[in-house]
Amino acid sequence: MSGLQAVYFDGESTDGQPVTLELDARQLLHVRGTGCGIDLAWPLVEVRVSERIGASRRRLYFPDGAQCETADNDAVDALFEGRVPAASWLLHRWESGLSYAVAALVITVAAAWVAVVWGVPALAKQAAFALPAATETYIGRDALATLDKLVLQPSKLPETRQRELRELYARMTSGIQGAATYRLELRQGGRAGANAFALPAGIIVMTDELVELAKDDRELEAVLAHEIGHLRQHHMLRLVMQNSAAAVLIAFMAGDLTSLTSLAAAAPTMLLQASFTRDFEREADDFSLDYLAKRGIAPEYFAAILRRLEEKKRPGRKDGASDYLSTHPSTRERIERARGKI
Ligand SMILES: [Zn+2]
Repeated sequence: MSGLQAVYFDGESTDGQPVTLELDARQLLHVRGTGCGIDLAWPLVEVRVSERIGASRRRLYFPDGAQCETADNDAVDALFEGRVPAASWLLHRWESGLSYAVAALVITVAAAWVAVVWGVPALAKQAAFALPAATETYIGRDALATLDKLVLQPSKLPETRQRELRELYARMTSGIQGAATYRLELRQGGRAGANAFALPAGIIVMTDELVELAKDDRELEAVLAHEIGHLRQHHMLRLVMQNSAAAVLIAFMAGDLTSLTSLAAAAPTMLLQASFTRDFEREADDFSLDYLAKRGIAPEYFAAILRRLEEKKRPGRKDGASDYLSTHPSTRERIERARGKI
C-alpha cells in the first residue's frame, strides 16, 4: 500500500505536521513529511493503532511516544490487516520450550503485579492530567450533584459567615497559580459530618460541621489549603480511576478519554468509602504546610484541627459517620509533620 496521509505529532509539541505513511516489503512503516524533514521508520508490529469507532479519526502510536492521526480509516485497516501482533509472535517462540513457558508464567505474574501496583496508578495519573477540562468539569459537577442528592444539605450557616468564608477562600486562591477557577461550596454535612472534599474540576466542599469545629479561621485555612493540594494533583480523579482500572484501560485502548465521564457516577461513593493513599495525603499536607509557611501561619493551627477531628472520631460517637479522618488516615503522623517533627 502507499500514500496514507496523516498528521504527525512528535509527543512534545502540539503542532501537527502533514506526513505520508508507507509500508515497505520488510514490514517497516515509513513516516515522511516533505515540508518538515520528518523521515522515520518503525516495524509495523511495534505500532499500536486505536480502534475504529464510527468516522472518528484513528491514531497510530509509535514506540517513542509520537503519534499520527488520520481520517483515512479504510487505509488504516488495510495497513494493519493480517499483521502478526508482536505478542503472539513471542508467544509462538516461547511455546517451543518448557523453560520459556516457566519464564512466560513468571513474566505474566510480574506484569500483573506491576500493572496493579504501579501501572494503574501511573496510568490514572496520566489520564487525570490529560483529561480535557470540559470533561473534568462535567465529572466534578455530577459528583457534587450526586453528593447533594445523597448526603449533603444546603449550608445553614448565617449568610454573613458564608460570605466571610468565601472571601477567605478567594483570598487564598488569588495567590495560587491556576486556582482562579476553583470554588468553595458550603454544605451541611449530614452523614458526612465534619468534612471537606476536593472534587474534580476545582470544587471544594466544606461542611458546616467542620466550620463549627474550628476555633480559628486559620485552622480552616489549613484544611482548605490541604484540599487545594488534593485539587492540584487531581487526587479525586485519580482515586476514582485507580478504582476503575478496567474503565481506564478501555478508555485508553479506545483512545477516547471522554468515555471516562461515566466514572462521575462512582465518584461520590468512593469519596465517602475509600481513602486517599498515604502518598496523596502527604502531597496534600506538604502543599498545606508550605502554604501556611508562606502566609506566616503556624502549622500548629493545622495540627489543632486535626486533633479536634480525631477526638470527634472516638468510639462512642453515635452517628458512625465517615468523617474527614476516615478519608484521611494516619492522623498522628500528620499532626507530627505539621509540628515539624518529621
Ligand atoms: Zn486529604
